[in-house]
Parts: sequence; structure tokens; C-alpha cells
Amino acid sequence: MLIFLKMKRIALTVCIFYLLSINIIIGLEIKNISYCGISFEVLRNNSSEISYILIHGDEETARMLLNNHIKKNNGKAFIIKSKTREVPFGPTIVDPNRLFSNIGAKRALKNFKSDWDGNELNNLLIKLEESRENFLFDIFPDKGGLLIALHNNFRGYNVKDELNDSELYSIKKDENPRDFILCTNANDYQKLKDGPYNIVLQNRMKKNNNGSLSWAAIKHRVRYINIETRLGWLSQQRKMLQFVEKMLKNN
Ligand SMILES: [Zn+2]
Repeated sequence: MLIFLKMKRIALTVCIFYLLSINIIIGLEIKNISYCGISFEVLRNNSSEISYILIHGDEETARMLLNNHIKKNNGKAFIIKSKTREVPFGPTIVDPNRLFSNIGAKRALKNFKSDWDGNELNNLLIKLEESRENFLFDIFPDKGGLLIALHNNFRGYNVKDELNDSELYSIKKDENPRDFILCTNANDYQKLKDGPYNIVLQNRMKKNNNGSLSWAAIKHRVRYINIETRLGWLSQQRKMLQFVEKMLKNN
């Protein structure tokens, strides 16, 4: 009898837990936005000063983390609707994280197609520029808010590649150089620099930038954090995200 009651209680607890998680999923509001034809799904869980973005479709660890994180935390998550790193764009494919400045976009569009007709390329760059401000308005948080981008790397890219563009940095000898935080706000950097993770501060605009979203954030003075980890290192990326949020929430 006692065992039966115990089992009933366990079943009830499991059931309540299941219903609660369904509610949390239903609580997400889902819509789509696009940057010049590149689609993003927006998952909104109430409101928060923190938004998140996944911009490279093949970075599955970051995608997994973000899909899970937004169910349990308030905020908005922008998730690219692509499974590949490059996305179709006009007559070519392009890295979507190189389209946030004219100079970066021009270079990126020539990456996979060298034989552009001059007008065709210029028209596409104009369309991009027109679309850019609307898209940035959608994804950048209200004044004082924070945008967190999640990235994974699977080649040699690491924090040392960012030092030339950085004003300040703190490299930890026990940390893998491929796991690091990039931030665009000096106050955020001060709060994060003594933590366990590699970190760089980039807060000064470079004319000849590569067109990544961080440069648009610097230009618009938006607090932006990029959490970069090796592909597959989910728990490391989760720990880094939790650390950033703990140190910067209610700033
Ligand atoms: Zn990436």
C-alpha cells in the first residue's frame, strides 16, 4: 500500500513537472524577422533587458544552449533559420555575420563570387544598407540593455586573433584560447575581467572592419557580448553564459 502511494506521488510529481514545462514552452511567443531576405526566428519569453542571437546556423552547440536557455529565462532569442554557416544571398552565398558594415559586406560578397557586374553588386549593397537599420532596430535591446551572441568555432580561430582589434584583454593561462568572451562596453569588461574566462574589450570603431555584428554594436554604442566556445563544449558555453548573466544582470 505504502509503495503504491509512493508511486502515485511520484507519478503526480512527474505529471505536474511535465505540465509546467509545457506551459513554459507555450509561454514562448514565436515570430519571424528578416535581414534583406535572411530569416531569423524570434522566440520571446516575456521581457528582459537581455536579448540573444545565434547568427551561424551550423553552430549546433550554441543553438542547443540558446533554445534551452530561452525557455527558462526571460528575453528574446533571435535564431537564424539556416543549418549552414553561409546562407544563399542574391546570386551567391555569404557569411551572414559579415553583412553589418558596407566594407565588410562588399568583401564577403566577393568571397564566393568574383565575377560581379559592378551595378549588381552596388545595388545589392544599397539594399543591404537600407535593410540593415531596420534589422538592427529589431535585434538591439532598448537603451542600456544587453545583446548576447553565441558562437562556436571548429577550426583554429581563437582569442589571439582578436587581440589586435582589442583595447584591453585578459587571457587566463588555464583556459583554452578558443573559449573566450568579447565585449563592447568598458563597464561590462571591468565586471567580467577578473572571472575565470578569457576576455577582450573592443569598443573603438575600426574603419576597415570585417562587418561582424560586434562592429554594428560598437557603432551604435550597444552593450554586446559574444560568447565563443569550441563546437561541442556545451557545458563550458553554458557556464560562460551563466557567469556573464550573473555578473551583468540588473546592471
Ligand atoms: Zn559563429
